[in-house]
Amino acid sequence: MTDRPVVLVLNAGSSSLKYQLVEPGSGERIATGIVERIGSDDASARHEQAGETVESHGAVADHKDALHTALDLFAQAGTDLRSTDLVAVGHRVVHGGRRFSEPVVLDDEAVAAIDDLSSLAPLHNPVNLAGVRAMREILPEVPQVAVFDTAFFHDLPAHAATYAIDDEIARRYDIRRYGFHGTSHEFVSAAAADFLGRPASEVNLVVLHLGNGASASAVRGGRAVDTSMGLTPLEGLVMGTRSGDLDPAIVAYLERVADMDVDAVDTMLNKNAGLKGLCGENDFRTITAWIEEGDERARLAYDVYIHRLRRYIGAYMVDLGRVDAIVFTAGVGENAATVRADALAGLEGFGIRVDPDANAIRSHDARRISPDDAPVAVLVVPTDEELAIARKALELVRAG
Ligand code: ADP
Repeated sequence: MTDRPVVLVLNAGSSSLKYQLVEPGSGERIATGIVERIGSDDASARHEQAGETVESHGAVADHKDALHTALDLFAQAGTDLRSTDLVAVGHRVVHGGRRFSEPVVLDDEAVAAIDDLSSLAPLHNPVNLAGVRAMREILPEVPQVAVFDTAFFHDLPAHAATYAIDDEIARRYDIRRYGFHGTSHEFVSAAAADFLGRPASEVNLVVLHLGNGASASAVRGGRAVDTSMGLTPLEGLVMGTRSGDLDPAIVAYLERVADMDVDAVDTMLNKNAGLKGLCGENDFRTITAWIEEGDERARLAYDVYIHRLRRYIGAYMVDLGRVDAIVFTAGVGENAATVRADALAGLEGFGIRVDPDANAIRSHDARRISPDDAPVAVLVVPTDEELAIARKALELVRAG
């Protein structure tokens, strides 16, 4: 193995492919790029490397074509990927089911196993695999590694992973809480322990990953003991376009009274619910601006979001018994000071305080936003899923 190995990290979505070339040792981002509108005649691709941006436009038929486009952009930026110290390609794979608790090298058997899990994640695993298959064809000599969003939650305690439904049906159809965003929760937990200068094994955390998708987790001594997402990423917090928790009877009710079939309800809850369903917008920056203009739907959407978030914080504090830090991460968690302040307002009696000046500081670094003498630290810790995937991929190929 070389002195300065690099890993290409791929995140394949239904019509987009994001990639980053990462040096896991230093964390340096050598290049980042995205191909969008895959499957159309007017796809576009943007590649950033060494402060320069190269772009391309035109037809991109499928994920393999998208990868060729990415390799062309690397070449235009002066890098032949095959002649770098590329030691692995790390793929973000959403669902690892009961089977995968760790990253895995993608041989035919692992690919088949991930394919088998597609019924649990029909929107995600098939497109993740499209990226895997294309990359295995294009760079067959480079080991491909899958890093699963569910892995950090694989060993949730049974009482947290189990739904209170007929256990025979649950077993037959693999119904349990799997949890998602695990790569981020794990990365941020380790970084928070580092920030506190304590071993992860001694620290109890409530981690709030608030992006367009959002999830909370309770982490005791480095291990997840509860998380808000379930069988799918729909459960839990109010999100950009997902409802999060609701009375499951609503699904049957809509099918009966609103003449909606199961797919229509599924689409509504995943794509047209959450903040977007409540006020027509899922980006927090716009919602905040609307609230300032006096928009009442935006206000209610925000209040519902915060109420749900506080409910989970409370639940996880009780779950953990002792909490060392509450950690905010991802697009909203890292940037929206008002959300952080409102989520933790009035909790002084629990040892939780937010220092308004510290909370107002904008930074890309991990930071404390609670007063130094507060019993519970409140932290903002930027997540970096691509770096986490790159490090895991490197670790696995080194071990092999
Ligand atoms: P994803 O789940 O797509 O990975 P991110 O973690 O990138 O999402 O978060 C995206 C969300 O972060 C946006 O939808 C937006 O609501 C929010 N966001 C980004 N920047 C800011 C900001 N400066 N203030 C408030 N919210 C922000």
